[in-house]
Amino acid sequence: AQVAEALESAIAAADLDVAVRPVVKITGCHGFCSCGPLVVIHPEGIFYQKVQPSDAEEIVQESLINGRPVTRLLYADPGTKEKFVRVADIPFYNLQERVVLRNIGHIDPTDITDAIAAGGYQGLAKALGEMTPAEIIEEVKSSGLRGRGGGGFPTGLKWQSCAKAEGEPKYVICNADEGDPGAYMDRSILEGDPFSVLEGMTIAAYAVGARHGFVYVRNEYPLAVVRLVGAIKQAKQYGLLGENILGLGFDFDIKISTGAGAFVCGESTALMRSLEGKVGRPRAKYIHTVEHGYRDKPSNLNNVETFANVPMIIKNGAQWFASMGTATSKGTKVFSLVGNVKNTGLVEVPMGASLRHIVYDVGGGTLKKAFKAVQSGGPSGGCIPASMLDIPVDYEKLVETGAMMGSGGMIVMDQDTCMVDVARYFLEFLQEESCGQCTPCREGIKRLLQILTDICQGRGREGDIELLQELSATVKELSLCGLGGSAPNPVLSTIRYFRDEYESHIRDKF
Ligand code: SF4
Repeated sequence: AQVAEALESAIAAADLDVAVRPVVKITGCHGFCSCGPLVVIHPEGIFYQKVQPSDAEEIVQESLINGRPVTRLLYADPGTKEKFVRVADIPFYNLQERVVLRNIGHIDPTDITDAIAAGGYQGLAKALGEMTPAEIIEEVKSSGLRGRGGGGFPTGLKWQSCAKAEGEPKYVICNADEGDPGAYMDRSILEGDPFSVLEGMTIAAYAVGARHGFVYVRNEYPLAVVRLVGAIKQAKQYGLLGENILGLGFDFDIKISTGAGAFVCGESTALMRSLEGKVGRPRAKYIHTVEHGYRDKPSNLNNVETFANVPMIIKNGAQWFASMGTATSKGTKVFSLVGNVKNTGLVEVPMGASLRHIVYDVGGGTLKKAFKAVQSGGPSGGCIPASMLDIPVDYEKLVETGAMMGSGGMIVMDQDTCMVDVARYFLEFLQEESCGQCTPCREGIKRLLQILTDICQGRGREGDIELLQELSATVKELSLCGLGGSAPNPVLSTIRYFRDEYESHIRDKF
C-alpha cells in the first residue's frame, strides 16, 4: 500500500508529457512471494521486485518518462544471476499454466468492471442464457474436474447427487477454511479475484437448484473477507447476484460466515455444524452432506479453487479443460511452494507435472543445501524423498507415495532438516486441532506425539518405530473423520523413506 501511494504521488508530481496519464492499479498477490512487493509497468510488462516507497520516483522518471528499465530493481535468477526485464520472460511465470490464477495480479479485485473486462462472468452468462442445469452438470462431469480441497471427489458427480437429492431449500457452500500450515492458495484467490469464486458458486447453484449460498471463510483472512463483501455488493449492483440474475429469472444470494480458526471445521460435516452456529465437530462418515448438509438439507460443498475453475470450464468447454492434466486428474493445480526453495510463491501447473519441474524449474531449487524431501498435502500429508522427484503430480500418484494432494501446500526441505522432527511438528499441530470427539484420534495422536518427542529428545527406545507403525494403523482405521484418518501420514511416510533417521536417533540418543 505504501509503494502504491508513493507511486501515485510520484506520478502526480512528475512532468509527464503524455496524452493518457498512467494510473496505479492495486491488484491481488502476483504469486511471486519471495520477490514482493512487486510492480509491473504496463503495457510493456516490465517487472520490478522488492520495491520500496523510496523507489517510486526513480521508477516514474526512468520507466515512464525516459523509457528505460530501472536495472537494480529487475529480477535476477538466484542461480545464474541473469536479469529479466519483462514478466513474460521470467521462468517462474512462463513455466506455469495459469487458469485459476488467470486474473490475479492483473485485475483490481475491488472493481467488478475490471473483472468483467478481463472476461469475468462470461461463463455465468453462457450457463444461464444457453444451458439447462442438466447440461451444466454434464459439462462439469465431462471436464473431469475433481475437488481441489483435498478429497479429489468428481465435482460433476457431487453436483448431480445434490441436484437429485430430495429436500428444499438446497444450499451451495464454498469452503474457504484453508488451515494447512504453509498453504495460502485460497486466500490469494479470494483476495485477488473473488468474482471468479462467486461466479462459480452461482453456476453451481443454478445447476443443483439452490437459491442460497455461503462462503465459510477463516476469520484469520480479514482481507479476503473484505474483498468478498465488496464483490458480493458489486455483483448485486450489476445484476450478477441476487434476484433475477442477468434478467434471466434465476435468484441466488450468498452470505459470508466467518470461522473461528479450528482446522477441523474444514471437514464437510464439521463445517456445516459450525455454519449452523454449533460446535464444529465432524459427524459419522456415512452422512453425506449433499443429502443431509446445512440444516439437514441438501448442500453442495466445494472449495475456493474448485469454484474458480468452473467459469472457465463453462466458457471454454469441457474438452478444453480435459486436454490439460493426466488420465484421471484433469486441469491444473495451484500449489503454494514454500520452505527451503529459492522461488517461493503460488505455482499453477497442469496436473501431471513432475515434482522436479515444480521444485527446480519453477521454484529454482533449494537455497543452499541439497534437496531432501517435499511435504505435500498439509499436516496430514506425507514427505516425498528426492528419489521420487520425477513422479507426475496427480491425485493417485501422490497417494501411492504415502503423501496426498491435499489442498496444495508444498513444503520443500533440504539436507539440514530432521525428518523425525518434521513428523513431530505436524503431529503437534494435529493434536492441538483434534476435536477430541473420538478416542483413537484424541488419545492416539497424543501418544504418537509423545513417542516422537521422546525420540527427538534422546529418550527413544528399541521397538518405538514398530509401536509408531502399529498405533498409526489403529488411528487411521478407527478415527471418525479425515483428520484422524490421515493424521499418521507424516509419521508413516517419514518412517517409510527416512527410517535410518529414526534408528540413528534411537541408537545414538540425540
Ligand atoms: Fe474429532 Fe479427530 Fe475424531 Fe475427527 S477423528 S472427529 S478430529 S477426534
